[in-house]
Amino acid sequence: MNPTFIIARKRDGHELADREIADFVGGYVGGSIPDYQMSALAMAIFLQGMTAAETTELTRQMLASGITLNWPHDGIARVDKHSTGGIGDKISLILAPLLACCGLQVPMISGRGLGATGGTLDKLEAIPGFRTDLTVAQMKSITEQVGCVISSASAELAPADKKLYALRDVTATVPSIPLITGSIMSKKLAEGLDALVLDVKFGTGAFMKTLDQAGELAQSLVDVGKRMGLPTAALLTDMNQPLGRMVGNGVEVIEAVETLTGNGPADLTELTLALGGELMTLAGKADSRQAGVLALQAHLDNGNALAKYQQMVSSQGGDPEASLSIAKQSVVTANRSGYLVGVNAEQLGQAIITMGGGRRVMSDPIDHAVGFETLARIGDEIEANQPLVRLFSHDHSRDEATKIIQQAFQIDDEPARPIDLIHEALR
Ligand code: URA
Repeated sequence: MNPTFIIARKRDGHELADREIADFVGGYVGGSIPDYQMSALAMAIFLQGMTAAETTELTRQMLASGITLNWPHDGIARVDKHSTGGIGDKISLILAPLLACCGLQVPMISGRGLGATGGTLDKLEAIPGFRTDLTVAQMKSITEQVGCVISSASAELAPADKKLYALRDVTATVPSIPLITGSIMSKKLAEGLDALVLDVKFGTGAFMKTLDQAGELAQSLVDVGKRMGLPTAALLTDMNQPLGRMVGNGVEVIEAVETLTGNGPADLTELTLALGGELMTLAGKADSRQAGVLALQAHLDNGNALAKYQQMVSSQGGDPEASLSIAKQSVVTANRSGYLVGVNAEQLGQAIITMGGGRRVMSDPIDHAVGFETLARIGDEIEANQPLVRLFSHDHSRDEATKIIQQAFQIDDEPARPIDLIHEALR
């Protein structure tokens, strides 16, 4: 294998053969191909793209760099959901226990927040004692005993992704559809799943700002899932305003618990159930998304979902009864009357970072006590001085966060249509 030749072929727009991708990724993980050659290939992929066949081989080789969880042949379906990330997205905390109530098992590997979007692990760590650094053996055992677990990726699962992601981060090659696909799908395939659903978000608070970009990513993820033999579906969902009302860490856990009792915000409940309904269908547990939604809804209403969540929290060392520490309340008010026509959700994420609830760099600590609750939705009529947000902050960052939040709410004279949350399903 000649790495320079492979880089040149991709640079010139040729389709790489499986063998070339396998040798290159294998050489990079094994240490015979240095970072500078992998950087060059990543940039060539960023500029030239990859076919579905190439992206699938890239994913297969990234997966092969580590172990895959193996499960007994007991007829139980192992399933998971992945979100491309957004503001106020606490769906994993609700969906994992909910699916476990329906007899599915969910070995969920989640990430931390970086930049404007939050991370599931940071939210869960607001719960005193909760551990997210489980070993593979602990993850497997909790999945089998409780039905669901949410933990960080162990070093044994898709190690190529850790190494390649760190390189992409410093070589401006993160926003490449084939590289994102390989990164996400290698980690999900390593869970040894029977079905996967993807929540691919678009809008001001999403990684993909336009519906077209999100559609392209969703199609790539679904194609690779299918080519790898994993039943996969994707929902394209709107992230032009926060999901649910709460944004932060501790406050999002509180809202997730409310939703687990059937008393959550309508948008959060709707999307959680829709993603779950897709998984129930893919796993052969429901004939349609709607039938899956009805089965899942019953477990919100009868208390099972909350009990399963509490069992998961306890099994991961957390105290499900502990009251979470939340910072002092204040309100952010509207500076004019009119209609709420837009929200810069990314700016709202920046307000969380300003208060210490998110990270600028991966080593930043997280303050779990700060956050906010949105009190208006796009399409609402607004009076001047009406509260738009209930802020949970500390004295030193309150004024700056208030200013950022006020600027993020766009109020106009002409009414705007409320947002349709779920745009399209790709199966
Ligand atoms: N999330 C991932 O896991 N990987 C990427 O490359 C981008 C988002």
